[in-house]
Amino acid sequence: MVINESLQTTNLISGAIEAPRYSCALAGAYSTAVGIFGVVPILHSGAGCGIGQLFGQFYGGGQNAGGPYGGTSTPCSSLVEEHVIFGGEKKLESLIESTVELVNGELFAVISGCVPSLIGDDVGSVIRRFKEKKPEVPIIHVNTSGFAGTSYEGYEYFFDAIIDQLLEETPKEKGLVNVFGIVPFQHIFWKGEAREIKTLLEKIGLKANLIVGEFDALENLKKIPAAEYNIVLSSWIGHKTAKKLEEKFDTPYISFPGIPIGPKQTSEFLRVIGERLDVSADVIEDLIASEEKRAYRLAEYVGDVLLIARPHPYFAVVSDSDSAVSITKYLANEMGYLPDLVQIADNPPEEARELINEELTNGLETPAWPEIIYEVDAYRIRENLKDRSFMFLLASSLETFISGPEFNAIHLTVSFPSYDRIILERSYAGFSGGLTLMEDVMSKYAGPL
Ligand code: SF4
Repeated sequence: MVINESLQTTNLISGAIEAPRYSCALAGAYSTAVGIFGVVPILHSGAGCGIGQLFGQFYGGGQNAGGPYGGTSTPCSSLVEEHVIFGGEKKLESLIESTVELVNGELFAVISGCVPSLIGDDVGSVIRRFKEKKPEVPIIHVNTSGFAGTSYEGYEYFFDAIIDQLLEETPKEKGLVNVFGIVPFQHIFWKGEAREIKTLLEKIGLKANLIVGEFDALENLKKIPAAEYNIVLSSWIGHKTAKKLEEKFDTPYISFPGIPIGPKQTSEFLRVIGERLDVSADVIEDLIASEEKRAYRLAEYVGDVLLIARPHPYFAVVSDSDSAVSITKYLANEMGYLPDLVQIADNPPEEARELINEELTNGLETPAWPEIIYEVDAYRIRENLKDRSFMFLLASSLETFISGPEFNAIHLTVSFPSYDRIILERSYAGFSGGLTLMEDVMSKYAGPL
């Protein structure tokens, strides 16, 4: 048992990394474009980049296909040796022309990968020339060489390009809020999470612009500067975007360590939002009272399974920091499970780790605090799971087949990559999301009592 063990935060990132749980910056920008319905990505890269991300990013994000503009349907300049020597600008130019002619998109996003960055293609001037010819076509360039960062940084690059190349000063609209920090596919429950957060915010009278997982892409993107506030649902992802919007459009932002799961986190989320956005306390408290009553009444149905079948088991988590915080808090604070080990696999920056550590220590109502390890390498994550007390492992599909034989633990995929769970709208967000998480965890062992 690891009880009150001193907090360990190690970052052993050096040399090669085995099976990191994210992809490159191009992948993040690409999946963000695909996750905003109506944006058409145009990849300026080798053909392998796009097809690699179909397997690496989209299938890994809950076995989802890329949809009408993702996967094998994505326009791509498919650069080969010839372009490495003579440049790929001409090919990109004709690709943009033919895409705009053939595809009925609202916004075209040229996303460049490693090859054009290495050979020095001037993608900006290709797009400038196109805009001079067809100023009525909305088009941006996301300058993401794959080596410029991870999928998470690719998400920020996408919005960086939107802010610089698409957005204009707009009068503020009372009650309008943008939500950032949910990275499509990388956060495997992104569609359901976005929908639930939107519903919650609308229930307290706000107009929520989730952007990802929504239609009317261009309209939603263009109204970003009109928001009264930006809400960031991550301890670090979306912060660069929110800071830039604050500087450029004077929009303040507020951040949370993750998506709220279950009544405690969701009630706290609503109270903080209500206070910042001047929502009537009565409206907030009425909603909390009715939703908590319902969620806790329904939770009583799993009372026997919870208390008889596996009372207070130890658990371990391997996931991105946002999901790790929200899931650990829900299991510890609402289900009475005991956290043994939390491995954070998205490599958050140092400045975010203080908050993450705080949430996973002082934020827990538990007699057993978890060891916290920051690790991205699949081999070292596996080594760290050895000789522990946990009976449940909430992780990715990389652990599906080793969880039982190696650790004698019950496994549930809750984080990227998810190759063994198809995820459409399922989510753990909000008051009911906690019930869904309980269902998923307990269905692994429930009955016969
Ligand atoms: S790292 Fe570079 S080459 Fe590899 S998929 Fe990403 S953009 Fe393409």
